[in-house]
Amino acid sequence: MADVEWQRLKAQEVRALAEANAVVILPIASIEQHGPHLPTMTDTRLGHEIAVRAARKAYPKRPVVVTPVVWSGLSEHHMPFGGTLTVSHATFRALVGDLVAALVRQGFRDILISNSHGGNMIAMQQICDELAVDCGATLVGTTYVTEAGEDLSRHLEDQKGVMHACEAETSMMMVCEPALVDTSDLAGLAQGMDGGRFLAAGKASYRWRPFAAITANGVAGNPARSTAAKGEAMLEAGAEALAALIVNPETWAAPADLRGAGTGGVDFRRG
Ligand SMILES: [Zn+2]
Repeated sequence: MADVEWQRLKAQEVRALAEANAVVILPIASIEQHGPHLPTMTDTRLGHEIAVRAARKAYPKRPVVVTPVVWSGLSEHHMPFGGTLTVSHATFRALVGDLVAALVRQGFRDILISNSHGGNMIAMQQICDELAVDCGATLVGTTYVTEAGEDLSRHLEDQKGVMHACEAETSMMMVCEPALVDTSDLAGLAQGMDGGRFLAAGKASYRWRPFAAITANGVAGNPARSTAAKGEAMLEAGAEALAALIVNPETWAAPADLRGAGTGGVDFRRG
């Protein structure tokens, strides 16, 4: 198996991957508080792990290379607990845009922005919308939690889906960084189990709130019964979902153009 991590490759090996029309995974994540028991790198570490595993799974069908994780994400809502680094939307947009441009200049044409942090989801979609017309590549944005969906959540016993510093993230970190998980009081950490009103107003409207509005200790979910076995199953499920996305030709196919003869308009892409 060839190495899939960009920063471990020589320049000529990266050039060969561009010539082979490899997919690039550009992971985006965060450095932010993850309760009293997990390190601040949790989303960055998990995003890296799932991207690398996905690349290895997809590689026999299509070459893939994974860039280093963009750790500087949107985490203003976690600032009240400290331990958090955040950037502005404008900075995030500029950084991701510059990295996509650097990939396109080297000949990569299919780019998967792979997100592992809830706070980046809306911005990721906005960036994809904005760059799609001009960037010269096909951009797909994914968040492994939603792409894998039920394949992740069926491993959980004490919460419905992946939350924050929770049964899911704690279990996966027990695999990736076991020495950095403080397991001394997992049973006492459950918080924010009903996080439904966190970003809500009215019946179906949006309001920003800080994470401190739903949790006293920075945890949302119940890490009490976290295990490395659950974590391994969830990492594999997340990686399988991303690999399936990568090797599906429909993911990268040009959009249909159903305009009839004589219909006016302009091209989907500029330039
Ligand atoms: Zn997290």
